[in-house]
Amino acid sequence: MLSIYQKGIVEEICKSYCEGIQVNGKIILKGMVQWIEERINKYCSSEKEAVKELKSKLTTVKVKEILETQPDKLIDIWNEFKIYENLKKDDDDSNTILENIFHYETFRSYRSTIINGYWLAQELGVDCCPYCNRNYTMSHKHNYDLIKKENKYVFPSFDHFYPKETYPLLALSFYNLIPCCNACNSDYKGARDPNDINKSDYKILHPYTDFKNDHFSFDFIPEEYEDLVGKNKKIDLKINYKNNFIRSDLEKSIKFFGILENYSNHRDMIQDIMDKKITFSDRYLSIIQSTYGLDFQTTYKMLFEVHYDDEKLFKLPFSKLKKDVYDKLEEIRKKSTRLI
Ligand SMILES: [Zn+2]
Repeated sequence: MLSIYQKGIVEEICKSYCEGIQVNGKIILKGMVQWIEERINKYCSSEKEAVKELKSKLTTVKVKEILETQPDKLIDIWNEFKIYENLKKDDDDSNTILENIFHYETFRSYRSTIINGYWLAQELGVDCCPYCNRNYTMSHKHNYDLIKKENKYVFPSFDHFYPKETYPLLALSFYNLIPCCNACNSDYKGARDPNDINKSDYKILHPYTDFKNDHFSFDFIPEEYEDLVGKNKKIDLKINYKNNFIRSDLEKSIKFFGILENYSNHRDMIQDIMDKKITFSDRYLSIIQSTYGLDFQTTYKMLFEVHYDDEKLFKLPFSKLKKDVYDKLEEIRKKSTRLI
């Protein structure tokens, strides 16, 4: 589990997501508020009283609120509209009006003039899944058909933190769209609802707002330098929780996504970083820094191939695990008389 909050940047992307992009006063990408309003006009054109009532409640201000509100207020907004969850424009329509208006599949299709899923993934730059920090979630344009000059826009799944099947009104709310890998989206989370009061195990933390990356750390046995070398190397991964206020929900979140089970498959990686930490001693790091005029974080990335900065951990797989193993080894080194 990693936080993907980037102060100032996330708010700016959310603003563009809602309002669109203008250059020199000219709209080059239509925002989601305008797009949703067009869909409201299309799918609420009925003489049914309930439909007219729904349309009157979906004002521009309310649509903006639905799209940009913070995660802890999303359920309140849903509760305002829950009475319309089964409302259809025509009784034999397959989708409800709310499903048609806040239509996630259309959002995922690339449209050059409207904010879309590819745009959002590119802007956020969450290159690695925040739930597992194992799989890449990068996006790119792919020349699918060279003759017809057709492109495909490849980008990650967006997990609906509050499932769109249960909360169709929230299917396109900015803070309800978490870029993530297919395994976490489909195999682990599926349509499980963090707001389900009957399933306390589903209450997971929100990657934008609920925690910071230093609220927990991966830890491993051994505790002594002698156990790190030789034939009897023992690696038993566990997690230390550093914030008691959110500990319970963080524990549930890590269990929910099977993090420890998954990471146990990567013991060789832990071994690699242990070997590297021993090989690249502190003295070696200092020499590189002073020789090439590099700071610690750049040197660390060069040698360990991941980020050290908490705010960049979501950019590369296993950054959090490797950082925590590195820090633990540093702790052991400081306690030891030997040179690691
Ligand atoms: Zn994942």
